[in-house]
This record gives sequence, C-alpha cells and structure tokens, in this order.
Amino acid sequence: MIYKKRTMPNELKALLSLDKRLPNNHMKKHEVKKNLLICQAGYNGELEFDAHIAEFQPDYPHAILHDLYLRQDGAYFQIDSLVITPSSITVVEVKNHKDKTVIKANPTQFIRVFQNGDRKPMRNPYIEIDRKIHFLKNWLNIRGIQIPIDGLLIFAHTNELSIEHPSPEMKTIFTYEAPAHFRSLPMNEHILDGHAIHNLATAMLEHHKDYNPFPLADLYAIAPEDITPGVICPSCDRPGMRWGREKWNCPSCGHAGKTEHQQTVQDWFMLIKPQMTNREFRYFTQLNNRNVARSLLAKSGLQLIGERKAAHYVLMKELTPSP
Ligand SMILES: [Zn+2]
Repeated sequence: MIYKKRTMPNELKALLSLDKRLPNNHMKKHEVKKNLLICQAGYNGELEFDAHIAEFQPDYPHAILHDLYLRQDGAYFQIDSLVITPSSITVVEVKNHKDKTVIKANPTQFIRVFQNGDRKPMRNPYIEIDRKIHFLKNWLNIRGIQIPIDGLLIFAHTNELSIEHPSPEMKTIFTYEAPAHFRSLPMNEHILDGHAIHNLATAMLEHHKDYNPFPLADLYAIAPEDITPGVICPSCDRPGMRWGREKWNCPSCGHAGKTEHQQTVQDWFMLIKPQMTNREFRYFTQLNNRNVARSLLAKSGLQLIGERKAAHYVLMKELTPSP
C-alpha cells in the first residue's frame, strides 16, 4: 500500500517560477536553467519508477513511501522511495540523466560519458545511499526496530548504462525491472507484521518534513529586484496581467480570472522572502490600489501579523512548527 505519494518537489516548483521571472540576459539564467533541467529530469525518472512499482502488489503486508525527508542525528536525509516488507526495508535511489553512465570497479567509480565523448567522474550514488541507510538505521534503532536495510540504485529506462564492475556492492537496475526485483525479495524472517508496518509507515509520515529551499533568491544570490514582478497569465505564460472590473485581465491573450494573484504570492514566498507586506504585494502584482491589495491579500490564505507599519503576511503553514 502506498502511504505517501510523490508530488512535485518544492525545488522544482520554485525553479520553474524563477526561470519564468528571470530575464534571459541575467548572469544566473544559465545556472537556473541547468538546475531546472536536472531537477525536472530527476522528477521524471522518479515518476517513471512510481508507475512501475505500482505493479508490485504482493499478498504480504507492505508499505511504500515516496520522497521521504527525515531528520536524524542533526542531519536531514531524503529518500526517493522506501519499500517496507515484513523482512526488510529497501532504500531506493532513482537516477535519470541523458548521458551514458559507466560503473567501474577498484575503486568503485561512476563516470558520465557525454555525447561528445568527454568523461567526467560523478558522485558515487552507492555512498549517498549508504549515508541514508546509516541515518535510517539510527532512526529505526531509537524506535526499537531492527531490520535489514538494502539499498537499490535505479536508472530511468532511457539511460544508457554500462556496468563494468564485476560485483557492484549494491543492486543496480532499470526502472522497468523494479517490480520483478521486489517480487523476488526473499521473505525469510517475519520481523514486522502488518500492524507494525502500518505503525512504522505512519510514524515516518508524521516525522516527514517537506524539503524547503526557499527563498531561491538567497540560494542563487540573485538580487530580488532582478526578479521580474507581475501576475503571470496561466493561459499564455506572460507576466503583466492587470486588475480591472474585479478581475485580472491579460493584455496579451485576453484571459481573465479572479485568483491569478495567488500564484504570484506563492512565487514571492518561494523566490524572495518568507514575509510580504501590502506594499510588497502591490509591487509584485504591479497593482496600484492599496485597498484592493488588502482585500485580495485577505483572500489569499495568508496570516496577517502585526499592525500598521509592522503589518505583514506570512504563509499559514509557516506558523505551525514541524514536529
Ligand atoms: Zn495571457
């Protein structure tokens, strides 16, 4: 049973929004575009895995959690997918890049071979997965759970892979092989029963925290004033919608609607800073009227804090500290 579905990661949402709002001639444009493509490819690879793992429906109790972000020993660790069965837990790491990957032995090396033949070593994903297994083991230990944890490295089916390693230290397969891999898992010892698996998956959900890279302007050292303001039209993707006759109107394509500023507000929090004043709202939506701004802000699902000059808005969920 799937306990946690995958949704578009915050980082990808924010990069999509930053890319729309960063002028083509900006010095950080290339870096933002590059990371956007990496992030998008990673997410697509993970979705591909999710589609295949949906076929895995064993008759024993099990739990699947996608995109889990937990904290242990003061460090956060992110797991692409976690599969819990009665006799083991598998930490799945999904890779997706368009270049060929060569896995060599002695020492284990991951090499990316680009289309022009250039070769570049990449971070060894086995070490990344081992780090996650280490933290997960400690996370389980303090809850009194001892169970074997396996790592599984998975490449999207379109990746070209050459394993020159005679015995890779971790199982390495393609996404389409995942259901067969999990079906063939040995069920030697029943360490967790259905009830224990349910409790464990539920505890993981309770401790999960969405990874939050906001605001992206800080992360990329981009001056907030370089980020193009304006309400972006959902129909033609251009900024510059104008408020008139109680709705937002697009001068480019004629689309009109009442809620388009909500995405603009989200963009502000993702890109610029975790608070927003009435004046900042007017700047970022390019709206002149303070009272219209106040009434739109009141309907944006935000929390108003402070009074008069100190008044500002924050996202509702920011007020609820994570467990
Ligand atoms: Zn438009």
